[in-house]
This record gives sequence, C-alpha cells and structure tokens, in this order.
Amino acid sequence: MCRCSQNEPIKLDGGRAQQILQRRINQSVAEYEVFNALELSRGGLCTHVREGWNIGKPPYGYTSKRYRHPNPMKAERGATKTRLEPDGLHAQTVTQIAQWRYHENLGYSTIADRLNADPDRYPPPVPPGERRARGAWGKSAVCEILRNPKYTGYQVFNRRASRSRRGAYNDPALWVWSPELVHEPLIPQWMFDELNARRQAKRGSRDGNEPNTHPATRRTYLLRGMVHCPCGRRLYGQQRHHATYYVCWPRGNNRGRPETYPGHPKTLYIGEAALLDAVSAFYGDRVFGPHRRELLTAEIASADDRATREREAERERLQRSLTDLDRRQANVLRQAQDCEPGDPFAQGLRRTYNELEEQRKTALAKIADLDEADAAEPARPTADAAELLDALPYLVLNLTDAPEPLQRRLYEITQLTVRLHTDSDHATISIRLPADQLPAITAAAAGIHQQTHRPVTSKVTGRSVDPVRAPCRVRTDDPRFTRAVLWPAELRRLGPGVGWLGP
Ligand SMILES: [Zn+2]
Repeated sequence: MCRCSQNEPIKLDGGRAQQILQRRINQSVAEYEVFNALELSRGGLCTHVREGWNIGKPPYGYTSKRYRHPNPMKAERGATKTRLEPDGLHAQTVTQIAQWRYHENLGYSTIADRLNADPDRYPPPVPPGERRARGAWGKSAVCEILRNPKYTGYQVFNRRASRSRRGAYNDPALWVWSPELVHEPLIPQWMFDELNARRQAKRGSRDGNEPNTHPATRRTYLLRGMVHCPCGRRLYGQQRHHATYYVCWPRGNNRGRPETYPGHPKTLYIGEAALLDAVSAFYGDRVFGPHRRELLTAEIASADDRATREREAERERLQRSLTDLDRRQANVLRQAQDCEPGDPFAQGLRRTYNELEEQRKTALAKIADLDEADAAEPARPTADAAELLDALPYLVLNLTDAPEPLQRRLYEITQLTVRLHTDSDHATISIRLPADQLPAITAAAAGIHQQTHRPVTSKVTGRSVDPVRAPCRVRTDDPRFTRAVLWPAELRRLGPGVGWLGP
C-alpha cells in the first residue's frame, strides 16, 4: 500500500525526489509548530507567574483566592486566576516550623515529632486526591515547606522538572520569580535565605543524643553534636582506653577524596572530661553564679572592637575623598561650560571628568564593602543580655555529677556550642538564652541542683576569667527574643595523647 500526504503529489511510479523533499519540509514545519507552541505556552506561564498568579494546588499554609480573569474575553467565559492567601492555622504552622528550625536549629524529624504531638494545633498536610494522606507529619513534608520559596511572598515557577528527571530540583538560576511581593509571606526572606544556607551544614545529622540505631551501639554521648571542629564538621563521640573522646576524622567518610579538607590534621580529638569541666564552670560561674553580672559587664567592656574602629576610620577617609572628588568634578564642569565642544581642551576636560567618576565609583564600592562587613559582625552582648541573666535564679551547680539526661536537657535548651580553634588549645563555649525558654532553663537547672546538691569547687574557674572574644550573633529582629552570651573557656590538654595528631 502507498501512503500519501494530503499536500504531497500522488505519484505511484517514477521519480521520488520531489516527494521526499515535500515530506521533509512538512516534517520540519510540524516540528517547528510543536516547539513554537511549547515556547509560547511556557512564555505565557512565565508571564502568569511574574504577575503573581498561582499555578496548581496552593502550598500548605495558603488557600487560593479567585480573581476575575484579566482578559475580558476569557472572563466572559467564567475563567478566573488565583492568588495565594494565608490559611489560618495552616499558615501559623508554617511560620512555627520556620521559627523552630531557625531559632533552635531542629532537624526535620524533631520538628515532625513536635507537630504530631498536637495535631489540632498543627493540622497535617493532605496530598492531592487524599488517597496518600497519612494523617500525620513526616520528615519530607517539613523539608518541602522549608525549601519552598513561595512562603517568602514571591511567586516562583520552574523550580522542579515537571515531566523529565522525576521532579528533580532545577538549578535556582533557572527559577522564574515574580519581581515583587505578591502575597503575604509566611517566612521572612532573610530567614528563608539563612535556613537554606544552613541546610547543607546540618545535612544527615540527627538531633539529640538518643542511641544510634546501629545494633552494635552500646552507649550515648553527652555532648553529641555540640562540639565543632574548625573545619566545620561536628566531632563524634568515641570510647577509648576507658575514657570518652570527641573526634574529627574527615577521612572516615571522605575516602578517595583526600582534598576535601586540605590542611586538616589526620585526627583531631579532645577528652570529654576536659570539656565537661569547662562547660560546668561556664554554667556555674557565668549563668547561675553570684558574680555573673560582673563577669558579663567585664566582657562587654573589653570586647575586641579594634576591627570595627579600623573600618570606621577607613570609612571617614573614603568620605573625605568623595567630597574632594565631587568638588573637582564640579570644577571641571565649570571650565567645560566656557569651551567649544570640539576644542581639544574640552576633550581633555571630559577625560578628566570620566577619570574622577571612576574614582568616585571605586570609593562608593569600598564603602559598600565596609557596610557589609559591619553588618556581618557578630552582635555584642548588651545590657539587655544582663536583664535576661537576672531572670535566672542563683544556683550552685555541679554539672559533672548530674545524671546525663538532666545535663543534656539543659545543654539543649540553651543550645550549647563548643568551638575548637585551629591555632591554639583554646575552645569557645557559647550558649543562647531564648527569652521564652527562661522558665524551662530554670527548671532544668533546679532539677540538677536538687539531684547533686553539693557545693562546687571548680578547678577551671580560675583559668577562664579573661574574656577575649565577642559573643555570638543575635539572630533575630526582636531584641527580646534571643540573647546570646558567649564565653571563652580555656581547655588545657588533659594528659598525653589528647589534642592534634599530625597527618
Ligand atoms: Zn575537622
């Protein structure tokens, strides 16, 4: 049988050249039409999103509000477009999830547990069709919410591959954003950016110090996940020769990638006893001790702000040079007014003017850099931090003798962090005092006090008096929400074999 296209000549014998040419042209035109239709439709979707309209099911926390279609013809036919609108309890849940993640740095699993503890207050999401609904929060639902940029108030399109690559995330450079806020944000932009920057650092680590699920696990480690290596990894607990150590051994999970942490010692380890002495003294003196206020005041007074002062001087110098450049530019302009346009003198003036303009731009860029450096500088403790401390009771604490769960509870609510330093035997201990958690902190400390109930004489106290570092950053807009108090405590090497091991 012979098949012929409707616009091909019907020829059952003889030359086929004309027929083949006609067919190939038809194929090319058809292919063009398909791609053209796809591109037009895609362009339409991009415009739709840039104008702030929503595509598809609204994300958890939002409902869709219908609007009359802007095209009168389509509106006539009853077509509508939708924008997002916060959805009561669901919207509050999204904000709560972001706050837990941001302020307490909780893992997805822990957040899901908290949400599931009160399903009336935090209603679980329902997937389309409801067939897959599990009636509870899962890790992936929490993760999806924290990764979805629509919660920042912008419409975003093309985040994921819809047909190909099984819904994999596209490169964020290819995402299509609405140029301005188009619905009420549930997570502030700055918080969203910070959360996404942090995500990779926290990846794969679990919260708390519950035993590992590996069958060979025999014990837990009190400071699990709280001791940080200068390389950015967290140290893990290890039992050796009847003593507990915290270890950073990058080769362990970077086999075949020797350059992942260049310059890192083969193994870095520190004894738990040394850490706990310092941590105990820190809480005993700085948080619950009778002289905590004086110690904090001393720290505020001696905070090292040399770098800030240097930046201030540099900024003043740049401002002066800017004023000078403005004056010289005005001068050049005045001379140019009296010249003919083609005059070589006028051309020289124009060149000078452009050079001055270049210098001015450089100076402005430098000032912007300085502003950025100032903004990145960690905030220092202020008198407000002392007020937070005043809300805590005075207690005599001997943390080293307290049962592990009680200690862990206190460290978790105050977000204890121990940072080791590459260049010295020092470590920096920092905690945060969230204002809304003060009663819980008091209760945890009081519990420890009752359990141990012995006066403490700390060996470390005498060694950790010199405050040399600024406190960690206060990461919230509301000054009352969180205050961070940071204190350096010197950790001497305990006995032989503790510390750095060369490669
Ligand atoms: Zn390390």
